[in-house]
Amino acid sequence: MKIPGIHHVTAIAGDPQRNLDFYAKVLGLRLVKLTVNFDDPGTYHFYFGDEAGRPGSILTFFPWKGAHPGRAGTGETALVSFAVPSLEGWAERLPDAVAGTRFGQDTIAFSDPDGMRLELVATGGEGSKITGFHGVTLAEVSRDKTAKLLTETFGYNLLASEGNRFRYASSAGDVVELLVQPEVKRGTQGSGSVHHVAFRAETDEIQNAWLLELNKLGYRTTDILDRQYFHSIYFREPGGVLFEIATDPPGFTFDETPETLGTHLKLPPWLEPRRGEIETMLPKLELPEYAG
Ligand code: ZN
Repeated sequence: MKIPGIHHVTAIAGDPQRNLDFYAKVLGLRLVKLTVNFDDPGTYHFYFGDEAGRPGSILTFFPWKGAHPGRAGTGETALVSFAVPSLEGWAERLPDAVAGTRFGQDTIAFSDPDGMRLELVATGGEGSKITGFHGVTLAEVSRDKTAKLLTETFGYNLLASEGNRFRYASSAGDVVELLVQPEVKRGTQGSGSVHHVAFRAETDEIQNAWLLELNKLGYRTTDILDRQYFHSIYFREPGGVLFEIATDPPGFTFDETPETLGTHLKLPPWLEPRRGEIETMLPKLELPEYAG
């Protein structure tokens, strides 16, 4: 059993409209699902991704206007990296971005309006539209136990290292990098912070097998939770970052056609009776035009 890569990344934002405009208009991601935080239905939950809302392309946000900013540090995701075939045109779209290279790949680094650290990594080929995640970088006090989880349990391979940075890759090619910073204080979560990183399970049976395996290894996991578009279990990796294992099915076309993804507020059946009240509570939004 191997983890075939990242399923989604979930983060915390401030102003909803500002978040939506940045990811849809500046980065060109598609809003593939407009819903609410199931635990706090007066708050939106945005899902951005590729055209089809494919696992491995999904970045989600809980936007709270006036949210307290997080502080970067260890035990947290320090950087979310997107893959693009080429970086052509991005410097004009992101005038504050800083160009670099890592492990032989050209990158540009920038922040979203809430200060969340982002990066585009050139993976080769034609075009410059974001194709999905390249990976995440986790800031950690030490490496051994997290590395063991990634390699021995998840089936990732150590691809390369540079100083205090270690790159592990899934069989699908997306990466988790560990940035070992024993001198850095623990981070605190708030707007601009990644809340958790979710990894893929292809089926519910495989997720159940992961639940048993993680419990056998001594990880305390949640029960399997119904997130409407996938089923989830959560646990903390040894360095403190919250991990999730999320199923590919049923996916984002569970309650919308591929053409209409993200165009209407969707609620799970148990919140549908409260739609009127929820719509009144939610801040008004101007949805992006999806160009296809
Ligand atoms: Zn999640």
